[in-house]
Amino acid sequence: MAYEVTATRRRPQTFDALIGQEFVAATLKNSIETGKIAHAYLFTGPRGCGKTSTARILAKALNCQSGPTATPCGTCSTCQEITKGSSLDVIEIDGASNTSVNDIRQIKDEVMFPPNSCRYKIYIIDEVHMLTTSAFNALLKTIEEPPPYVIFIFATTELQKVPATIKSRCQQFNFRLVPIEKVKEQLELACKDIGITAEDEALYWIARESTGSMRDAYTLFDQVAAFSEGHITYEKIRDKLGLVGTERLNEIFDACIDADNVSVTEKLDAFLQSGISIDQLITNCSDYLRSLLLIKHGITKESLLGQAAERYSKKVLSGWNSIQIERALSLFLNLYRDIRYSLSPRYEIELAFSKLCWLSDYVSPVEVKKAIDNAQAL
Ligand SMILES: [Zn+2]
Repeated sequence: MAYEVTATRRRPQTFDALIGQEFVAATLKNSIETGKIAHAYLFTGPRGCGKTSTARILAKALNCQSGPTATPCGTCSTCQEITKGSSLDVIEIDGASNTSVNDIRQIKDEVMFPPNSCRYKIYIIDEVHMLTTSAFNALLKTIEEPPPYVIFIFATTELQKVPATIKSRCQQFNFRLVPIEKVKEQLELACKDIGITAEDEALYWIARESTGSMRDAYTLFDQVAAFSEGHITYEKIRDKLGLVGTERLNEIFDACIDADNVSVTEKLDAFLQSGISIDQLITNCSDYLRSLLLIKHGITKESLLGQAAERYSKKVLSGWNSIQIERALSLFLNLYRDIRYSLSPRYEIELAFSKLCWLSDYVSPVEVKKAIDNAQAL
């Protein structure tokens, strides 16, 4: 059997299988069941969260031989053709590469002919915001008075670039980023599919890196599975992808608490020697400090921290107060911004860690004011 990437293999085929888009799925199902079918739909939302998959499911729901139905069978020839992308009546157009007015004129001519074998002729136009103004104008006339058998499904990641005249003629659906917990659940199922196992922490990391895009998560999952020999561990990911890892961050930040400049400099040098880039290190330190700050605020939810709260150094958590951790985090965030104009990125990060070594002595202006107020009171 030919190798299929996980994103394709696990592409949802029914409304109920859509991940994290329950509201969209329920509304579409309801409108099909009650026969309220619009002639133009507009799907908006971030990339990789299921817009195109939903468009195909909707196409099947409307054209299934036992439909229109909210639960397309998936087995009739119509459903199968739509799944394979070979249906003559479900036409997928990439707005990014068919942006001209001529491309749209062609659609205008085509819609005059009724569907070949299906109930509806459905145009799925992806990245519709890429169309030129004249293309939009040409399209407008068609969606104003479409033949009864024509349905348009537009998808876009940039709603603000779609003209109001188009928007007002479409039924709009807003897709959301998929919550990390749900992405992780799907990754667990993907593991079962291909008969491999994975550490919780490793899957959390993949889910977090994909920032709410199911497609990105699957792509990263495939990459990681390829070198994991049947068992995905965070350690393998860390080594292969050159990540720093919480244990090693705990060590260097512990040394900062001890104000042990020598040890900090040596550890930093070891990171850089092992091929970790300065950008990567700053990013990892920022993630780490953000998690510490969240823990300080009493947050222990693993999906927010990326891993169990117990994994973070107790020494650092007790050594610095919230204000000091805030300061450390803003130090790294500023560093990331400044580093591209720097004489030497390496000096910058060394300086940042040097500052962290005396962070325990740092007193914020708020604390100074409090002390002065107290003194005045005396
Ligand atoms: Zn069917």
